Amino acid sequence: FERILYVAHDHLNQTRGVLKNANPNTDAIVLVESARMTTGRPWHKERLFFLISSARHFATQLTEAGFTVRYIKSATTVDGLKAAKQEFGKLPISSAEPSSFKQYAQLKDFGVEFVENDFFLTSRELFKLWAEKQKTFVMENFYRAQRTRLDILVTNGKPEGDRWNYDADNRLPPPKNYSWPPYLEHARDEIDLQVSKELDFTPTTTWATTRAGALQQLENFIQHHLHAFGPYEDAIAADNWALHHSLLSPYLNNGLLHADEVVAAVIGAYKKKKAPIESVEAFVRQIIGWREYINGMYWFLGEDYRNRNALNANRKLLPLFTDSSKTKMNCVKSVVQDVEARSWTHHIPRLMVLSNLALTTGTNPQEFLNWMREQFIDASDWVMVPNVIGMAVHADGGQLMTKPYASGGAYLNRMTQHCKGCEYDPKKRVGEDACPFTTLYWDFLDRHKETFVRNHRMSQQVNGLKRLTDLPELRVRAQHVLAGLDKGEI
Ligand code: SF4
Repeated sequence: FERILYVAHDHLNQTRGVLKNANPNTDAIVLVESARMTTGRPWHKERLFFLISSARHFATQLTEAGFTVRYIKSATTVDGLKAAKQEFGKLPISSAEPSSFKQYAQLKDFGVEFVENDFFLTSRELFKLWAEKQKTFVMENFYRAQRTRLDILVTNGKPEGDRWNYDADNRLPPPKNYSWPPYLEHARDEIDLQVSKELDFTPTTTWATTRAGALQQLENFIQHHLHAFGPYEDAIAADNWALHHSLLSPYLNNGLLHADEVVAAVIGAYKKKKAPIESVEAFVRQIIGWREYINGMYWFLGEDYRNRNALNANRKLLPLFTDSSKTKMNCVKSVVQDVEARSWTHHIPRLMVLSNLALTTGTNPQEFLNWMREQFIDASDWVMVPNVIGMAVHADGGQLMTKPYASGGAYLNRMTQHCKGCEYDPKKRVGEDACPFTTLYWDFLDRHKETFVRNHRMSQQVNGLKRLTDLPELRVRAQHVLAGLDKGEI
C-alpha cells in the first residue's frame, strides 16, 4: 500500500472526504473505535449504538467494495493509527479535516495529512470570508447569501414566492385531533445485534445504521412529512414526539447523507408540487442556513468560545436533566423522557424547554453543554458548542444572538400541549402553583436587568419588570423554585 486513509466515525461517506479518490490497490482504510469515544463520558447508549453500528456497517460495505479495511478498537484514535502503521508500515496517513478542534489538534500532532472537509456546502475558508465582512453575525443574512450562491429557490436574484422567509406562516400551535403518519421503524441486523450486545443495551427502532436506511428515512420524510413540515415546526405535541420533523440530522452529521442530496430531494418534491413553499423554504433554511452557519461559526469563533460564561452562571446541572422523575413540570418531564427514550427531541423542545430552563436557572453553560453533547444522537461538537454557548444560554454575551432566548409559561402554553394537566399554572408567577418558567423568566430579567437594559432588543422586556407590583414576592418565590429544582422537587 502507498497510503493509510483514516475515516472518522462522522465521515461515513464513500464519495466525500478522504474516500473520494480512494483506490483499493494503493490505499488501506482504517476506522478506529476508541475507548475514549465509547466509555470516556456518560454517553447516551442510543447515541453510542448509532455511531458504532453505523461505522461498522460502513466498514463492511467498504470491504465488500474491494477495499482493505481495518476496524481497530483501541484506547485512543492515535493508538489505533499507531497499530495501523505497525501493520501497514510507515505510510503517510490521510484524513478529511476532523470535525472538532480537539481531534484536529491530535491528528495534526500525529502527522496526519488533511484533505478538505467537504461534508458541508460551505468550506471553513468560504465561511470565514463571509464572517469577516459582518458587523453582526445574523444568520438570516448568511442564509440569503447561501440561497443566491447555491442557486436554491432564487430566480434572477429574486426569492421564490417573493419572500425569503416564511417564518410568520410557520408558528402554528400543535393541531388538535390530527392524524400523524406512523413513525418509520428500522429493522436490526446481525451487526446491530452484536453492537447491542457489547453495549448491553436494546436500542429503539428509530434510527437506521446504514446508508440504505438513511435514504429510506429521507424518502419517508419527502412522502409523508415535507408538505406539512413548516406550519408545525415550532410546536410541541403531547401525542407525537417527531411531528413532521425529518429525523435526518444524525445521518447528515455522521456522513451517511450529504446536505446536497437532501436539498435536491426537497427541491425535486417542490418542483413536482408535492409540498408548499412555506414548508420547503423552512426546511431548506435549516439545511443550507442554520446547519452551515453553526458549523462555520464553530470554526470561526475559535476553540476558547466553548468556555464562555458571560452571565456568570454557576448553578450545577439540575438533577431533572439526568432523571425525569426529578421534576413535576409536565413539559420538562415529557421532553427529558423523550431524550431518555431515543436520544432526540426536535429543535423547539431543546430550545424552548431544556435551554430556556438552563438559561433562566443560571445553570453553568459548560455543564449544560456537556449534558447536551452526551445525550443527543446528533450532538457533534461543532453542533453543540455554538448552539449551547451562543443560542441556548447566551453565554457569549450576545456574539451570536442579539438577545437571550428566555420565555415564560404563557408562550409554552400556546406552543405545547403540556400545560393542561400540569401541577403548575402557566399564567401565575407567584404562589405555590405558579409555573416555574413564568417565575424564572421574570426573575432572570430582574437578575440581569443592568446588562439587558442596554440591549435595545431586550429593553422592552426589562421595562416590563416595572409593571410587576408583586416583584418582591416573585423574588422570594424564585428562590424557592431554584432551591426546589436543585433538590429535584419542583
Ligand atoms: Fe411547563 Fe409551566 Fe406548562 Fe407546567 S405550566 S407544563 S411547567 S409551562
